[in-house]
Amino acid sequence: MQRWQGLPASDGIAIGPAWIFRPRQIQVQRRHVQDADAEWHRLETAVAQALAQLDVLAVQARAAVGEEQAAIFEAHALFLSDEELLAMLRQAIFSEHVNAEAAVEQSFEHYAALLLSLDNEYFQARAQDVRDVKRRLLRILSGCESEGAVSPSHPAVILAEDLTPSDTVQFERNKILGLCTVRGGPTSHTAILARALGVPAIVSAPLALDAIPTNATVILDGDTGEVTLNPTEEAMAQARRRQRQWLARRTKAISTAHEQAVTMDGHSVEVVANVGRIEDVQQALDMGAEGVGLFRTEFLYLDRSAMPTEEEQIQVYRQVFELLDGRPVVVRTLDIGGDKPAPYLDLAPEPNPFLGWRAIRMMDQRPDVLQAQLRALLIAAGRTDADLRIMLPLVSRLDEVRGARALLEDVRESLVKTGTPIPLRLQFGMMVETPAAALLAHHFADEVDFFSIGTNDLTQYTLAVDRTNERVAHLASPYHPAVLRLIAMTIAAAHERGKWVGLCGEFASDVLAVPILLGLGLDEFSMAPAAIPRVKEAIRHWHLPRCQEIARNVLEFPTAEAVEDYLMENMQ
Ligand code: PEP
Ligand code: MG
Repeated sequence: MQRWQGLPASDGIAIGPAWIFRPRQIQVQRRHVQDADAEWHRLETAVAQALAQLDVLAVQARAAVGEEQAAIFEAHALFLSDEELLAMLRQAIFSEHVNAEAAVEQSFEHYAALLLSLDNEYFQARAQDVRDVKRRLLRILSGCESEGAVSPSHPAVILAEDLTPSDTVQFERNKILGLCTVRGGPTSHTAILARALGVPAIVSAPLALDAIPTNATVILDGDTGEVTLNPTEEAMAQARRRQRQWLARRTKAISTAHEQAVTMDGHSVEVVANVGRIEDVQQALDMGAEGVGLFRTEFLYLDRSAMPTEEEQIQVYRQVFELLDGRPVVVRTLDIGGDKPAPYLDLAPEPNPFLGWRAIRMMDQRPDVLQAQLRALLIAAGRTDADLRIMLPLVSRLDEVRGARALLEDVRESLVKTGTPIPLRLQFGMMVETPAAALLAHHFADEVDFFSIGTNDLTQYTLAVDRTNERVAHLASPYHPAVLRLIAMTIAAAHERGKWVGLCGEFASDVLAVPILLGLGLDEFSMAPAAIPRVKEAIRHWHLPRCQEIARNVLEFPTAEAVEDYLMENMQ
């Protein structure tokens, strides 16, 4: 038996066969090229493909894990348009006449070394990201695009030198018993992912991976940070005991997750899931979701050269609706813009894509896109008796809502005329993610059946903080009283007109925010599936009048920090 001490990163006990992750090494051959223009074109094509992959990963990660993980992939995409890096690549191809692979290898390594030499932890940590992007580009250029083969074929304890975000998202979830890395800190990507998935994890464990045979039995104690290889019978028995206790605790949280979220004094709210792929729906139900509060449909449109056909869309929506079996499902219409490649949509790159031609704003010039989506949704819902709630993204003007509603009416009438079944239950709503929508919520509430507050964007637009820029990420706090006041205004305006309000930004999964949101009267909390058990548990600890008092107080505070400190002091 051997033991090592690492840092605990995600609690729980994992026992199982070791599986050592070794990222596929790509050998880069340096070649002289005659036609530099053609080589540059090869590189540009690979960059476009990498951007498309990163978009899909960001969308998937946002749905399955959360904003934090998604932001990592968005940051990776930024490296691909970094002027300094592009200048190095141009120099290598046009002046040194080397092949694209060699240009990528030398430029990205040079850039990573520059970052590592800076006396700043933030920049040093980015070197890892630069190398992750480098590997992605090299994989694409070499034609062995996926790392699919490097995933365990059976449930295992995954041991690795380090895990990049791209490595971690490619493992099949049900194959991960636990994660352990030699490098990385408790706030590394590995730790974030492990906590989101609810698997035990240890980082900074001084293992000599080459000396560990595949399938040797390993125990990971995510509470203490201890890794044990080839345990004695006694150590094994003890680990099994502790694992049983941990599983019992977890099973209890998950089993009560299927019960309603009701406060101590009997006030109940709906707790539903954010999903971005069909696969997320079952996980959401297993975690106790009472329905879907945000179905992000972007994945249908990304990484492809033509619009998804009506039939293709119907198939996807139908599968989601069937899985939900009559539970409510809020489907958001397409929300993409100039930061995403979708050649068939004319999404030219823009200097400020988050302030540009995107989401519902596309309706004027491309009504066909929304119309096709609405038709597919109504047809799929009509066939499956879905409780469909259609929701528009990034609304800032009343005419956007009126225009989309008219389009929905047209689609509905044309289906009725041809005798196509349409859903009996249908609601029409909008996201509140611009200050304009929140400030005019009393007008918007007359036009829709419900609101869902998107705090990720509402925070970005209220505080003028780019949500994809890691350097200012710490400023993007939904606890900022300016954001809280907009949330309060939205809920009050909707309730005055008898409309319900959900919240589907990351804020809904923050246990600290629960008393504010309950106190402000939020009707529906929507979040990544893994967060559901703990948020339901948190809701059950509060009394509504106390939450109302807390909500009233925080609205008067001057800073986000003051709000958070006050909440910490008043946690139940
Ligand atoms: C939001 O903005 O809060 C939201 C839920 O939408 P997305 O994160 O997809 O922009
Ligand atoms: Mg948004």
